[in-house]
Amino acid sequence: MRTLEDISLMQQACSSAPKPLIFVPTMGALHQGHASLISHARKRAGENGTVVVSIFLNPKQFHVAKDFDLYPRTLQADQVLCKKSGADVVFSPCVKEIYPLDSSIKVVEGELSGNLCGASRPGHFSGVVTILTKLFNIIAPTHAVFGEKDWQQLIIIRRLVRDLHFPIEVISHPTVREEDGLAMSSRNKRLSKTERKVACKIYETLREVRARALNGESDTSVLLDFARKGLMTIPEATIDYVEILDEQRLQPLKKLAPGTTVARLLVALNIGETRLIDNIALPPQPSPPPPHDQHETSGLRNEY
Ligand code: AMP
Repeated sequence: MRTLEDISLMQQACSSAPKPLIFVPTMGALHQGHASLISHARKRAGENGTVVVSIFLNPKQFHVAKDFDLYPRTLQADQVLCKKSGADVVFSPCVKEIYPLDSSIKVVEGELSGNLCGASRPGHFSGVVTILTKLFNIIAPTHAVFGEKDWQQLIIIRRLVRDLHFPIEVISHPTVREEDGLAMSSRNKRLSKTERKVACKIYETLREVRARALNGESDTSVLLDFARKGLMTIPEATIDYVEILDEQRLQPLKKLAPGTTVARLLVALNIGETRLIDNIALPPQPSPPPPHDQHETSGLRNEY
């Protein structure tokens, strides 16, 4: 496995790399969730393809400087994890080369970025789509892998790829969780022991809401109320958002209708100082039984 920092060397390496070229963008501080994305990329690339992982802590997607400053930086350990998980190349460019001082172009998504994390982190998704546009141009992958943990990001990236005509297949990967259900995240390291212990209640609540939906509750205001109450029992937790949305269009739903688009419950909260997000798909409601057919039961059906 090679690590490259220089953009032009990376462009050269990627243009002659055997295809498929599968790309896993990250911000470092890698954990088993990232490892799973990289292993999946390795499987999809096969022995002859190429797996590229980028490690770039993108300042443009942090709107609070302290959050950026506190983000863990563990490049050496990250390289070990990338190698073990099957990466061929790690790309870790420096900020100055990615964003020259007089850099003046950015990419903005105008429809799906307004709510959820986009509302509480202004400029975040512009930072995400701008860095991905740059990385897609440098690496020119055939495929790129993203985690479902960052659901809104995944949907926005699909839109970026479609709208800017990148010839890239976006592969989504299910959320990887700790044994107690907490979604793995680089931010989990910031939780104190007590905070870490209670953080499992997030996924517990998501699963309870899903169970209610499976049992027939289709009114999203009832489900949201239940979710909020569950999350509020977590000590030191402050809720940022709890929403049930159409999982593709990211628009609110009043009802979980039968057989229509899948709904998703998405939450963000702070436990102490640490911001955590998670989400779960809610099942479509079972279709109601067909209305009782009187003609059929009265034996007159064939006369009509
Ligand atoms: P990040 O380094 O946080 O920007 O994450 C890089 C990629 O890993 C993104 O596509 C994330 O959605 C994905 N990812 C992070 N944590 C997890 C997880 N627990 N399960 C699945 N994917 C994840």
